[in-house]
Order: sequence, then structure tokens, then C-alpha cells
Amino acid sequence: MVCPFCNTEDTAVIDSRKNSEGTSVRRRRKCPKCNSRFTTYEKTEIELIVEKRSGNLEEFQIEKLESGIESAFGGQDITEKQLKTLVENIYKEIKEKGKKVKSKFIGEKVLQHLKEMNEVAYLRYASVYKEFSDVSDFEKEVAEFN
Ligand SMILES: [Zn+2]
Repeated sequence: MVCPFCNTEDTAVIDSRKNSEGTSVRRRRKCPKCNSRFTTYEKTEIELIVEKRSGNLEEFQIEKLESGIESAFGGQDITEKQLKTLVENIYKEIKEKGKKVKSKFIGEKVLQHLKEMNEVAYLRYASVYKEFSDVSDFEKEVAEFN
């Protein structure tokens, strides 16, 4: 960590303290060159954790949600602005659920929205997301619209 007073690159940590939840660390640092002391805070930036089908956990990435929806529309029938708004709305709804959600829940949320917006995008997303085991499953989904 660079010294904010003299820009020396290597400063020493003289004290580390976790907050009560253990989610952030406060460090007192000292610059060996100018002897100034300053404080830094370290914390994780993960806002949302996704539990995959496999049980693995990963950090939620809004870009991934956005590109999934974008490719469901296939570059048609949705403006950049509409896409951003849609992604934000879905993200808000997901976050209401808590700090950890199942990937399945995210998929269902997306499908809920797409179903109201665009039949083709809905079916495209569903075909990827629901991992249809065979064609008849897909045909059942299509039949819902007819
Ligand atoms: Zn310094």
C-alpha cells in the first residue's frame, strides 16, 4: 500500500483488527520513509452468492445475467436501455431473496420476465436454462403459447 503522504510504495502494517462480524479488516500502517501513520480498510466486494446446481458457490456476476438475456433476444426486439432496465429489475428481485440464491431461482426469475415480454426470447432462454432433456419438453413449453 502506497503512503498517501509521500508516495513511498512499501508501508508497514503495525496493527490489524477485524470488525465484530469478521467481514472487514482495519489496518494501521506506518510509512518507513516519512513516519506518517494511516488507516486502510479491507473488505470483500461480493454482494450476492450464487449456488450452482452442482452445489458450488460463485460470485454473482451481473454481466453474465445480462449477456444471457441479450443472447435470448438474439440482438432483436430490445434496446440497450430496455435490456439494462430489465437486468436491474431482475437483480433487485433476486437480492430481495437474501445474500445467497440458487442459480435455479435466478433462471426462474428471468423466465418470468421474458414470458411477459417476448415469446421467442422466453423460449430461447428456457431451452438453454432448463436444460431440456428431450424435444418433447421443449414442445410442451411451446404449446403453452398456443
Ligand atoms: Zn510516507
